[in-house]
Amino acid sequence: MNHHKGIHHITVLAGEAQTNVEFYTNKLGMRLVKKSVNQDDPGTYHLFYGNQAAEPGSSLTFFPWPMAQKGKAGVGEVVNVGLQVPKGSENYWKDRLDEYNIAFETVEVFGREALRFDDPDGLELDIVFEGEAKPKIENIDYIVPAEHTVQGFWGARMLLTEKQHTEMLLGELFDFEKVTEEGNQTLYQTDAPIGRNIIIEKADNAENGKNGRGIVHHIAFRAENQDELDALQQKVGKKGLNPTQIIDRHWFKSVYYRIPAGVLFEMASDDPGYTVDEEFEHLGEKLILPPWLESKRDRIEQMLPDIEAASAS
Ligand code: ZN
Repeated sequence: MNHHKGIHHITVLAGEAQTNVEFYTNKLGMRLVKKSVNQDDPGTYHLFYGNQAAEPGSSLTFFPWPMAQKGKAGVGEVVNVGLQVPKGSENYWKDRLDEYNIAFETVEVFGREALRFDDPDGLELDIVFEGEAKPKIENIDYIVPAEHTVQGFWGARMLLTEKQHTEMLLGELFDFEKVTEEGNQTLYQTDAPIGRNIIIEKADNAENGKNGRGIVHHIAFRAENQDELDALQQKVGKKGLNPTQIIDRHWFKSVYYRIPAGVLFEMASDDPGYTVDEEFEHLGEKLILPPWLESKRDRIEQMLPDIEAASAS
């Protein structure tokens, strides 16, 4: 059994698509790695941001829907997304957030320095300073210099009324081990290179949130390949969690189920990956439709607003 799973992607509801693109590419310097549509509502976008290598473990994805009301994060949800940035970049990021008038507070996340702020739709983000920068990749734009850029997920925090059962699932399915506790928060970790931390925050009462923009829709964990996804799907079934069949998401295969604590979990395979339909150097430049929507391209393109990602050149 491999022992390196972590977060594959996190998907969030958003408002205006252009506001979303501008924030994550211009301001946070992430790479737009896939510009596609919501497969359940093809007249709206599905936007994927990641690190420059476009790796699983770095994909923060959004369903922008301009009419969406602002949501309120609550129990049974992922309420905070942590992005990992190399140690030593603290001043760079404080200056950068100041420059863009993004109000932040300096916090500690289990002993690591972090900057906490909201995205334009109210999603709470932490930039967590840990680890080192990856080598610069040639021929790829860096809006933020390689030594300071977002490396991928640091982790995610879930607000739950129960801990034991979710802890068991995280351990048995995805190899997360309990590391330490601080107040009402518990840290779980796996040895994945990125996306390796999950925090469970125990909620005092079951105050529910309100669905809308800024709210995390689901969190996906990695399966190394489709065989492992098959095995995981069966394992989840045996636990009585009623997983979906394996769904072809074109860039990965997926299985979904809601855990008893309320969070929608997905398991997604690393293969075939985002380069299945675009060259690595040109990821995110064109609107990509899964093959079964290609015949409706003209109509879909008419319905979607124009958006523009940042470019360093
Ligand atoms: Zn997903």
